[in-house]
Amino acid sequence: MNILITGGTGFIGEELRTMLLKQGHNLVIVSRSPKKYEDEAAKNQRFIGWDDDLATEMNEIDGVINLAGENLFGQRWTDEVKTRIMDSRVQSTQQLVDAMREADQKPDVFVSASASGIYGNRGDDILDEEEAHGSDFLADVCEAWEAESQKATEFGVRVVNPRIGIVLEKGGGALGKMIPPFQFLVGGPIGSGKQYMSWIHRSDLCKALTFPLVNEEFTGAYNLCSPNPVTMNEFAETLGNVMNRPSIFRVPKFALDIVLGEAAKPVTDSIRMQPKKLQVADFEFHFEYLEEALADIV
Ligand code: NDP
Repeated sequence: MNILITGGTGFIGEELRTMLLKQGHNLVIVSRSPKKYEDEAAKNQRFIGWDDDLATEMNEIDGVINLAGENLFGQRWTDEVKTRIMDSRVQSTQQLVDAMREADQKPDVFVSASASGIYGNRGDDILDEEEAHGSDFLADVCEAWEAESQKATEFGVRVVNPRIGIVLEKGGGALGKMIPPFQFLVGGPIGSGKQYMSWIHRSDLCKALTFPLVNEEFTGAYNLCSPNPVTMNEFAETLGNVMNRPSIFRVPKFALDIVLGEAAKPVTDSIRMQPKKLQVADFEFHFEYLEEALADIV
């Protein structure tokens, strides 16, 4: 297949590209700095910019995977940062939809990312795709992001929105920030510890992002996490066990609130998603349980 990817240079995109190239697909990566990746360009992998003629590119594309967006972690969400978080997702999605609209030959499928944050902070509730959305900033971002992508259905493109949970792999994401304290024997749970984390191993995530490319009946939003979310206390304890380190140094929520404010929500909010649509479609998770996933990673 010919696949166009945005955000293909990021934490998720890198593994996704490796997987798709191994499977023999041809990739076009849309990046803000395509020149930076010239060394990686090959016959089956091209890097282009957002100013290039995306509509002409779309004529040759079978599927689009949209992951671009300002990183949420590690900075306070000032008004300026919030605008960047929202606009980087909604405007880039709009640009892709406009390009598809203009193209004579449209892609079959548009996989446009969303996040578990769409459900808001929900305690122990088990959240399948039918659940109501939250009413905070992240929920608003996800709603606007999904709504923009769904406009491609107006001209016959099948649109799916993976609501991505906490992605686990070394060298990035939430785990990238949690591992170092454990290495230095000062690891532990973050916040109350009772909040649910809907996690997913990055290799399962990449497989599930491409699942809708070939499963033509798959449409709309779908939860993308393992079938077994855990509380933060369970997560920290399992990470400690796997690393053979203690998990006793809790980082209290008030301390995080002081340092990060609202930006602490991705790790302090409780979101217990069930990947019901993937389960009904018989998607096979390689890592269903946290211990196996962490043992593979760390
Ligand atoms: P990264 O931050 O690692 O990568 C995102 C990519 O988006 C970057 O490589 C960059 O590509 C592009 N990008 C960054 N900032 C902007 C901007 N201001 N405007 C346009 N493009 C930008 O993210 P991940 O790979 O971790 O995540 C990919 C998507 O999945 C994100 O949208 C994220 O919100 C979502 N997600 C991730 C989760 C996780 O745990 N990692 C959880 C839930 C959702 P380039 O520099 O080439 O333009």
